[in-house]
Amino acid sequence: MPYIAVVGSGPSGVYTAQGLVQQTVVPDVRVDVLDRLPCPYGLVRYGVAPDHEKIKSLQGTLRTVLQDERVRFLGGVEVGPALPPAKLLELYDAVVYCVGAAADRRLGIPGEDLPGSCSATDFVAWYSAHPDARDDGFVRGVRTAVAIGVGNVAVDVVRILARGADELAPTDMPQAALGALAASEVRDVYMVGRRGPSQARFTTKELRELGGLAGAEIVVDEAELALDPGYRDPAALPGAVRRNVEVLRDWAGAPRRGAARRIRPRFFLRPAEIIEGADGRVAGVRFERTRPDGLGGVRGTGTFEVIEAELVLRSVGYRGVALEGLPFDAARGTVPQAAGRVLRDGRVSPGEYVAGWIKRGPTGVIGTNRPCAKETVASLAADLSAPTAPERIARDPLAGLLGAGLHPVEWSGWQSIERAEAALGHSLGRNSVKIPDWDGLLSAARAVQEV
Ligand code: NAP
Repeated sequence: MPYIAVVGSGPSGVYTAQGLVQQTVVPDVRVDVLDRLPCPYGLVRYGVAPDHEKIKSLQGTLRTVLQDERVRFLGGVEVGPALPPAKLLELYDAVVYCVGAAADRRLGIPGEDLPGSCSATDFVAWYSAHPDARDDGFVRGVRTAVAIGVGNVAVDVVRILARGADELAPTDMPQAALGALAASEVRDVYMVGRRGPSQARFTTKELRELGGLAGAEIVVDEAELALDPGYRDPAALPGAVRRNVEVLRDWAGAPRRGAARRIRPRFFLRPAEIIEGADGRVAGVRFERTRPDGLGGVRGTGTFEVIEAELVLRSVGYRGVALEGLPFDAARGTVPQAAGRVLRDGRVSPGEYVAGWIKRGPTGVIGTNRPCAKETVASLAADLSAPTAPERIARDPLAGLLGAGLHPVEWSGWQSIERAEAALGHSLGRNSVKIPDWDGLLSAARAVQEV
């Protein structure tokens, strides 16, 4: 039977594993889903906002795949110096890399690295209990925060900042982040786009949700929205974009409620500099006012505006990271590929495949990974069933992983982490609460594995 490694247990990895066991071209495949972390589900666990329970419940679907008898979850296994891609190819008949896009894009403006200027990715990792996250004291002493970018990640971080702790307490947010947000004095949260409302990347459902927060109200300046020709003539816009514009229009016309916190969507402002205060920390952002160029882009006007703030969250998209031993297109942040087959110097690299964000870039919703994985699985199955396919390795690769000094956290270990998180939540009078550090996760996992 062929052994296939899927590297990464986020949605693209799990959909790939599902596609592999469901396809009928190559019978009896066995799939090991490897993950650097001891916990499965990738961005569904560490990226989807904690208050998005419905999207998080997708974990149930992913769980069913990982519990299939032909699939094995092996957490705590990092592809790196101890297990390079070449070694994986010795152990498995094929390897599919579904490693996502782990880094953030840079703005390339002065002040980007000042204390108080963080990537939204780091902020999300902190409130999602990613074990690599640093507690940067993100919201301490902050009254005004600015998110740069108008995609769904910006909407997520704005919502978490503007939501009251009461609403966050029932989620699985780690206790330290919940405590910090409960103590936060954030009052104004800006979300700033360099282009207009009709070019914003957020989806309407996510945008509309901002208007339903108990302790926050939306403040938009209709004159700024109207700089967008699409705002003045929404009938000409495609459906999803038109709905975004309509939501903003409704907010612009609504009376103010005098809520404790204000969410301030702003448009046509291009970040020029993150300003340093006398204390060496972020004091605000200097933006250049832009105007539509008639081609979907914008041009600068030479006039500037400063928004004073103590926290800046750069939310301008994710970026793929090169994996030593795999080819990488640095400009696109992806692995070169054709229909999911990895290309080395333009030629198909036998046995190596990609799916998800590392294949197509960091775009699309979770469901976009299904057809993406399906295409890769079809290529892999066709290659494995071809008369020219190399002989099967015919031995369980786990021995090879152990021989390389790796100690995988298996499914029982993950279940033990889940139990430990439920117990932690119980002790805090909350629902299940995530364990935020490596030691805590690994000792919870090993507690059961050693029994
Ligand atoms: P995104 O959708 O690509 O949005 C990035 C934003 O950053 C855009 O507004 C972009 O503006 C702006 N930007 C890029 N470079 C900039 C610069 N130099 N200066 C100022 N602004 C800049 O990225 P994302 O929000 O990180 O989301 C990534 C993916 O995850 C998306 O597919 C998203 O839908 C998905 N996601 C979904 C959900 C959900 O469904 N609830 C939640 C989170 C994330 P321009 O358009 O002008 O480039």
